[in-house]
Amino acid sequence: MTFDYDPTNIFARILRGEIPNRTVFENDHALAFEDINPQAPVHVLVIPKGPYMSLDHFAAEASAEEQAGFMAAVAEVCRITNVGEGFRAIANTRTHGRQEVPHYHLHILGGAQLGAMLPPG
Ligand code: AMP
Repeated sequence: MTFDYDPTNIFARILRGEIPNRTVFENDHALAFEDINPQAPVHVLVIPKGPYMSLDHFAAEASAEEQAGFMAAVAEVCRITNVGEGFRAIANTRTHGRQEVPHYHLHILGGAQLGAMLPPG
């Protein structure tokens, strides 16, 4: 599959500093910030700084350094947000996954008991 990245998406604009965000953590390869419409007490989005539209795009084409930097950011977010009792990581992908923003982002949700993984609807 070929992956077409749209650089006008809102997370690309956040990365360019055109839109503010509530940063939780940042390193050379990833930015983590609070979701604007939180679905749990902890709801952080971790995004790569490179132009990847989805998890499978990132997994297929990001360098080892980018992938390591991204996962290091995930570890820092889990530490900073204190989700030791558990959390859920979600990567909604394209149409079937109901992805709204076409820049890969991993939702980190926690801070309370979560509901079913796939509620009706
Ligand atoms: P999805 O693409 O369906 O995985 O979800 C996109 C997520 O981005 C939603 O949870 C939105 O609330 C969130 N979101 C959209 N715009 C912003 C923004 N400017 N800052 C933070 N989160 C955002």
